Amino acid sequence: MASIFSKIIKGEIPCYKIAENEDYFSFLDINPIAEGHTLVIPKKETDYIFDLSDESLQGLISFSKRIAKGIDQSLGTIRTGIIVEGLEVPHAHIHLIPIYFEGQPVSLGRKTDVSESRMKELASLISNAVEL
Ligand code: AMP
Repeated sequence: MASIFSKIIKGEIPCYKIAENEDYFSFLDINPIAEGHTLVIPKKETDYIFDLSDESLQGLISFSKRIAKGIDQSLGTIRTGIIVEGLEVPHAHIHLIPIYFEGQPVSLGRKTDVSESRMKELASLISNAVEL
């Protein structure tokens, strides 16, 4: 069965899209731990990130870098952090976490409320700043 992320790529489930290219796709996490919390995934479905080919993993990191630079440029972060867990959705993904101040808690358990209109705004701000 296709993962929820494969359904997002196909447009069967809505998302706050950031960017895509031929091989990778990026969108906001719906349970953000910080404003602009973003996921980056390979379009080809693989559960465990370390089962990706070297080429695919390198491509995922390079694509994530471009998204992270867009986050930094558009949201005024001090930097963007990176987390890989993968226990909930069996489709390899990287979490990009905007860090706004030193000491900001960065762990996946801590959800923060972001309104739908702000999610739309964040996706647009980041998306416009990303250079692929
Ligand atoms: P994990 O597999 O533990 O690395 O986390 C999976 C992440 O996917 C969680 O942070 C969820 O909030 C996020 N997530 C699950 N479903 C969706 C969705 N439909 N759109 C955006 N993010 C999602």
